[in-house]
Amino acid sequence: RARAERQVAHEPARTLDAALIEVCANVTGHEEARVAHEAGADGIGLMRSEFLFMAQSRAPDEQAQRDIYQQALDGMGAHPVIIRTLDIGADKQLDYLSLPPVPNPALGTRGIRLMTRHQPLLDVQLRALLSVRPLDRLGIMLPMVTEAAELVAVRERLEVLAQEMNLEGRPALGAMIEVPAAALCADQLAQVADFLSIGTNDLTQYTLAMDREDPDLAGRADVLHPAVLRLIDMTVKGAAMHRCPVGVCGAAAGDPQAWAALVALGVDELSVEPARVAAVKAGIRRLDRAALSRALRDWLDEPLDSITLRQRLEQWLGEH
Ligand code: PEP
Ligand code: MG
Repeated sequence: RARAERQVAHEPARTLDAALIEVCANVTGHEEARVAHEAGADGIGLMRSEFLFMAQSRAPDEQAQRDIYQQALDGMGAHPVIIRTLDIGADKQLDYLSLPPVPNPALGTRGIRLMTRHQPLLDVQLRALLSVRPLDRLGIMLPMVTEAAELVAVRERLEVLAQEMNLEGRPALGAMIEVPAAALCADQLAQVADFLSIGTNDLTQYTLAMDREDPDLAGRADVLHPAVLRLIDMTVKGAAMHRCPVGVCGAAAGDPQAWAALVALGVDELSVEPARVAAVKAGIRRLDRAALSRALRDWLDEPLDSITLRQRLEQWLGEH
């Protein structure tokens, strides 16, 4: 079966009831883009740009960044590539930024909050991103968004830079949904974003107030907690009000049971490790989305914990 899965991995994946689900890849480096392409990914759903900044003792300049981003686009053929702006703070530090220690870094100045405070750093990254071609294959994604104003501010800045650079095209601009506030206000974000992408790693951490790095909580910090699923459901519904596409780029997108729950809740795209692309596409082709959606909504009315829900999903997927 694995060989047959690999062969059809390059074709788009539709559920049995004909819903097209894009299966993209998460990558850290530009070399990995080619791996993702070969694995059959429909695009890059998340390129974490941190790797570029953490590998050195100084921030990479505009040209160095542009080269890397361009290589990521070149490696993906005709497919779209979403690059996330630098997501630093909390667990990820940069020596040259000398961020002051704070008592609660996970709730501190991180992600887009940090970048808007370091405007020159953000400008260099935005200019490098605006230099890639073709721009219509690029999506720029902002991490740790809590309100629409953050995205609007970056869009305005992009506009100024694009005009300075005499550009005609504009890249797509999207927000990560990884803070409960963003999920609760997804309909507002969908009005100003070109796409949304749910970061289930942080969304789970912040919803359940369980540190994603804490080994004692690892078994309980599960995306299948009904509270997290409700926030994902709200995100999909809020986005649908404004015809804004929604993906998932957290680890849940490639999780053996959770991916199916995400599809059943109505997400349009899953972004997974390149090695998972073929298997997730194969699973989508065997899934009756409407049927699982009905079953899942019934289960979510019951007082179920994530362990039981995981068992039900596993059993349902085995039987169907
Ligand atoms: C997430 O939070 O789910 C995510 C994709 O971002 P990261 O894992 O890089 O925080
Ligand atoms: Mg995150």
